[in-house]
Amino acid sequence: MGGRVMEVIACAVPAVFVCLAVMTYSHIRQLRMFRTLDRMLEEAIDGNFSESHYDESRLSSFEIKLARYLTQCSLSSGRLMRDRERLKGLISDISHQTKTPLASILLYAGLLREYPIPKECVDSVDAIAKQAEKLQFLIDALVKSGRLELGVISVHPRLEALSPCIAAAAQQVLPFAAKKNVSVSWAETDAKAVFDPKWTQEAVFNLLDNAVKYTPPDGEVRISVKEYEMFCRIDVEDSGIGVKEEELGHIFERFYRSPSVRNEQGVGLGLYLAREIVAGQGGYIKAASEFGKGSRFSVFLIRRS
Ligand code: ADP
Repeated sequence: MGGRVMEVIACAVPAVFVCLAVMTYSHIRQLRMFRTLDRMLEEAIDGNFSESHYDESRLSSFEIKLARYLTQCSLSSGRLMRDRERLKGLISDISHQTKTPLASILLYAGLLREYPIPKECVDSVDAIAKQAEKLQFLIDALVKSGRLELGVISVHPRLEALSPCIAAAAQQVLPFAAKKNVSVSWAETDAKAVFDPKWTQEAVFNLLDNAVKYTPPDGEVRISVKEYEMFCRIDVEDSGIGVKEEELGHIFERFYRSPSVRNEQGVGLGLYLAREIVAGQGGYIKAASEFGKGSRFSVFLIRRS
C-alpha cells in the first residue's frame, strides 16, 4: 500500500513540475507579447511605427497581423497628410489666381456702364457684372469653407458679449432689408458666450441674409437671445416663405437649394458655412420652419469655457 502511494507521488511530482513550467512559459510569452503590442501601439500613436523595428521571426502570428495593420494605417495616414497639403495648396492657388481676373471683369463692367452704350448692351453689361459677383461670392465661400475644414483657418472662441456681434451682423443686412421694406429688429442683451466674434458675426449674418432674402416685401425679421444653463441661444426668426419639412434635413448640405427658391440669388453655401463656423466653436445650429409662414434658425453657443 505504502509502495503504491510512493509510486503515485513519484509520477505526480514531475507532472506538477511540467505543468508549472508550461504555465510559467506561456505566462512569460503572454507578457512578452503584451509588451510588444503595447510598444507597437505607442509607436503608432506617436506616428513613428515601422515594421522594420521588429524581427518577424520572433513575433507571434497575432503580432505580425497587428504590425501589418499598423503599417497600412501609417501608410494611409501619410497619404492623407500629403493629400491635405495638396488640397491646401490648390485652395490657395484658386483663391490667388481667380482674384485678379474677377476684379478686372467687375472693374471693366463698371467702366463700360459709364459710356453711352445702347440699351441691349447695358443689360448685357449688368448680366456680366452680376455673374462675376456671383462667381466671386462662390469662390470666396468655397475657399472659406475649405480652409475651415482643413483647419488652415481656425476659429478662436473666447468669452465675449453677444450684443456687439449681433448688432454688427444686423447692421450689415439693413441696406438689403431696406430695399425690400423688411424690418429687422433686435433687443440689447448683456448675455455672454464663448465665441469668435468675427466668424460668429459672419454666421449670424448668413442667417439674417437668408431671412431677409426669403421673406417677401413688408415682412419682418427678429433676432432674440435666450440664456440656458450650458448654452446661449440666438434666434433668427422671419415671416418668410418657410422650408418644407422634408427639406429641413438637407438645407445645411453644401450646394443644397430648395427648388422653390430658384428665382432668388444664391449658391447654397451660406448655411453650410454658418454650421461649420458654429460647430468649430463647440456649438450647433437648429432650424424650425412652417412652410409658407416663416422660419427660425437657432444658434447655440457655449456659455462658459
Ligand atoms: P442660398 O441662400 O445661397 O441658397 P443657403 O445655404 O444659405 O444657400 O441656404 C440653403 C437653402 O435653405 C436655401 O436655398 C433655401 O432653400 C433654404 N433657406 C435657408 N434659409 C431660409 C429661410 N430663412 N427661409 C426659407 N428658406 C431658407
